[in-house]
Amino acid sequence: MSSLSLREVKLCLLGDAGVGKSSLVLRFVADSFNENSESTIGASFMSKTLIVEDQTFKYQIWDTAGQEKYRGLAPMYYRNAAAAIIVYEITRKQSFEALKHWVKELRQFGPSNIILAIAGNKSDLESQRQVSSDEAKEYADSIDALFVETSALTADNVSYLFEALSKRLPQES
Ligand code: GDP
Repeated sequence: MSSLSLREVKLCLLGDAGVGKSSLVLRFVADSFNENSESTIGASFMSKTLIVEDQTFKYQIWDTAGQEKYRGLAPMYYRNAAAAIIVYEITRKQSFEALKHWVKELRQFGPSNIILAIAGNKSDLESQRQVSSDEAKEYADSIDALFVETSALTADNVSYLFEALSKRLPQES
């Protein structure tokens, strides 16, 4: 329709500590990278406007309430979320295996119609790869999620991830 339509999208980031969730947000929101980033404590919040195919999306990005001590916050964290990105790092198999846990939590607390993406981050560290693209794509397909390998460090595929996710969001009537 018209380019005037503005779509507000609440997006939750999930995934094990250290996989690069905050770094992906920083790359997407500010196009920068911080070598020495500390793991996120509690939950942080950032917003960014993105135009895809004549539609303006205003993303409100919620970065992790994943730590055990914040468990009680989970329902609030997921409430009214339109989309979620679950992140693992391609260099740590365990973070990939943890995806199942995050999907389960999302199914438990998140809206049933949430649009889901799996991001295999740190794609710049190819020589240390522990998770093949094929294996990850197969898993993502099995849960009807978008799959993208990203690097917050080099910016590879970071914009693409958010653009592709935006295209999957149902049209607002
Ligand atoms: P979070 O705990 O999931 O939010 O992870 P962070 O964003 O804090 O990142 C954890 C560590 O991984 C930090 O030292 C980052 O600098 C580093 N990191 C994040 N993304 C990438 C990436 O794409 N490539 C590489 N090589 N390092 C990354």
